[in-house]
Order: sequence, then structure tokens, then C-alpha cells
Amino acid sequence: RERARLAGGGGPGRTADGHPVKLLLNIGSAADLGPDAADAEGVGLFRTEFLYLDRRQPPSFDEQVAAYAEVFARTSLVVVRTLDAGTDKPLPFLGLPPEPNPALGVRGLRVDRVLPGVLDTQLDAIAAAARDTGATPWVMAPMVTTVAEATDFARRARARGLTQVGAMIEVPAAALQAEELLAELDFLSIGTNDLSQYTFAADRQHPGLADLLDPRQPALLKLIALCAEAGHALGKPVGVCGEAAGDPLLAPLLVGLGVTSLSMAPICVPAVRDELSRHTLEECRRLASL
Ligand code: PEP
Ligand code: MG
Repeated sequence: RERARLAGGGGPGRTADGHPVKLLLNIGSAADLGPDAADAEGVGLFRTEFLYLDRRQPPSFDEQVAAYAEVFARTSLVVVRTLDAGTDKPLPFLGLPPEPNPALGVRGLRVDRVLPGVLDTQLDAIAAAARDTGATPWVMAPMVTTVAEATDFARRARARGLTQVGAMIEVPAAALQAEELLAELDFLSIGTNDLSQYTFAADRQHPGLADLLDPRQPALLKLIALCAEAGHALGKPVGVCGEAAGDPLLAPLLVGLGVTSLSMAPICVPAVRDELSRHTLEECRRLASL
């Protein structure tokens, strides 16, 4: 297995006129940092739930520290997403009762309401892995819905010495409050998979509703624009880490809306890099004009 650090081989992504856009990776473990990862600048979405899948017991603190440290040792920019359990990512060990509407129920950060120890242990393990490796990981929570949730998450992460704290924007309510949220945080990362699902009230896994989930729709683009504008107003990064970020046809449009990074499956990086290099920032903005 390729053990090299991510070097950002091709440097940042750039538009034809040189406007930089960070190209980052979505991974589930260090095993995803194979040879085709070397072109990226870092990890924009480390989905930690893979560590918890198919288990009756949660991973131990030490097991978590080792898994996080393995990724932190490989790249200086890693955005760790805390556990996103529920709905399309069922985790049996949590023992949560079945719900009539799991996508609208106790999932993502909301699991903390019923099982607070899970998030606290995970934040402890991320902080310990950061100390062990000398890394400065960024940490973000999934399914943040209100400013109060963002504030509470940030307080708990910072209390452990984690200095770069953010939220995923996956719920329209959070996008509508992007500036208020970002005032409490260091960055936002837009999860277009769930943000589409919740904006269009269409199950992201329903094959018959794919047309409703098309991210080119103005309603979704307006929400992304709100987040990007909040980032510009406060001088803080706002990226996209949903599937849309890895689609070469959408990447210039997202850049035109004002996002500062695109995080995607490693295999998508070359095509996105190539497509961005063919459009000036002005052309990207025209594509995005609503
Ligand atoms: C998203 O919702 O866009 C996202 C990146 O998170 P996941 O696909 O893991 O729900
Ligand atoms: Mg999501």
C-alpha cells in the first residue's frame, strides 16, 4: 500500500485565470489514501462511521486513536467528521429503537442527545491522535441544524484543544442560518447529498426520485450561495463535500457560487482539476448566476 504523505502533487486546483480552489479527498480510512490520492491537498471528509460499521460494540478509545493517527500522519490537512449514524448508515451497536422516519429522526449529531458518551469519547480520541502525531485536524459534526447545536459542538471540541471546528451543512435550516452558524465556527462544509434530500424532500436513495435530487436546481444553488456568501463575509472557508463536488460538470458552478474547496472521491480529482483549469472565475460565476 502507498504510504507516502499526500503531497498535493498538482498543487491546488486553479481556474484558467489562477483562482485557487482546494481539491480534497473523501475517505473512510487510511486505506483509501492510495496512489491516486497523492494529487490532492488533503482530506476534506474523513467519514469515521466506517470504524463503527458491522459491530456490536463501539471501537475502543485506543482503536479510534490509532485509526485517526494513521490518517493524520499522512497529510497536514484532514477534516474529520464525527460519527454520522442513522438512516442510510445504521449502526447496530447504538441500540437505537426503530423509528417511523429515520431520515428525520435521531441521526448524525442528534445521536448525542440520547447517547452523549459516544461523541465525547470520539472527540477525546481525535484530540489524542492529534497530540500523538502533532497534527491540527479540523473537526466537524454532521446534521447540524441550529446555532445552539453548533455552539455546543464547538465548545466541546475546543475544550479538548481542537482549534478548527466546523459544521456540515446538510439541513436547509442550517444553510439559511449560515452566517450565524459560521460566527460560532471556523469553517463550513456543505454535504450536498443530504442537503438535496432535505431541500427537495426526496429520499437520496430512491431511484425513482433522481430528477428531484439534481443539484443544479436553483433552490439548492441558492442555499449553497448563502453559505459561500457567509464564508466571504466572515473570511472563513466554506467547501462542498457531497457527490456534486466530484462532478466535473458541477465543480466550476460550485466555484462560481463562491466555495473555497471541493472534496471528492480520490478517483474524481484529475477530471475536476482539468475542468476547473478550462474556466476563468468570471465564467464560473456566469455558470452560477441565479
Ligand atoms: C453529504 O450528505 O453530502 C455527505 C457528504 O455526507 P454523507 O454522504 O456521508 O451523508
Ligand atoms: Mg450527509
